[in-house]
Amino acid sequence: MYPGSPAEAYVAARGLSAVAAQFGLGYVGSAIPGHERYRNHLAIPYLRPAGGEDGAATVRFRCVDDRCVKDADGIYLFLKGEKERHEGHGKYQTLPGDVPRMFNTSALIRSSPYLVMVEGEFDAMTWELAGVPAVGSPGTGTWRDYWTPAFRGYEVVYLIAEDAAGLTFMDERAAEMPNGRVIQMADDLDSNSTLLTHGADVLRGRIGL
Ligand SMILES: [Zn+2]
Repeated sequence: MYPGSPAEAYVAARGLSAVAAQFGLGYVGSAIPGHERYRNHLAIPYLRPAGGEDGAATVRFRCVDDRCVKDADGIYLFLKGEKERHEGHGKYQTLPGDVPRMFNTSALIRSSPYLVMVEGEFDAMTWELAGVPAVGSPGTGTWRDYWTPAFRGYEVVYLIAEDAAGLTFMDERAAEMPNGRVIQMADDLDSNSTLLTHGADVLRGRIGL
């Protein structure tokens, strides 16, 4: 159950409680045999705009095990600017055989003059919480050329670069998108950290809204 779970607590600490239901976030406490690798993970479905029975294209799992994400005093490591300790496993788990996908494709069918593209689910949810339609791209090196046409028609697509690798990736996207505008996050804060530190108004201000 998500309520009362480590996943709910982690999402709350990232300032995203208000959009947890919108994104269908869940928690894997116990797992059926063969799925133990997803235990103690936040479940992040890739919801399809149409919803319904086949409403999730896939699910990704993020480890929120206290032993990995908190220090000995129970403080989340990310709040101290420290790296989480996922030993012997990755921070994220993807279903076997899954392909790279865009997160939050629902943003693409909302009427808006602008759109944010940012790497990763948490930062996409962060912009959505701030009221800005946002899709999350998978990591660098996974772009598919057939995604590019989905970004036509917007006055501006804000391509949010969170770090050096992200800047290279977003520069490549901008070369393919005449309406793309690369935005580098300031003060070594990614989108989510900006929301947590300064609030939604300052986050929107990063793209001039
Ligand atoms: Zn872990």
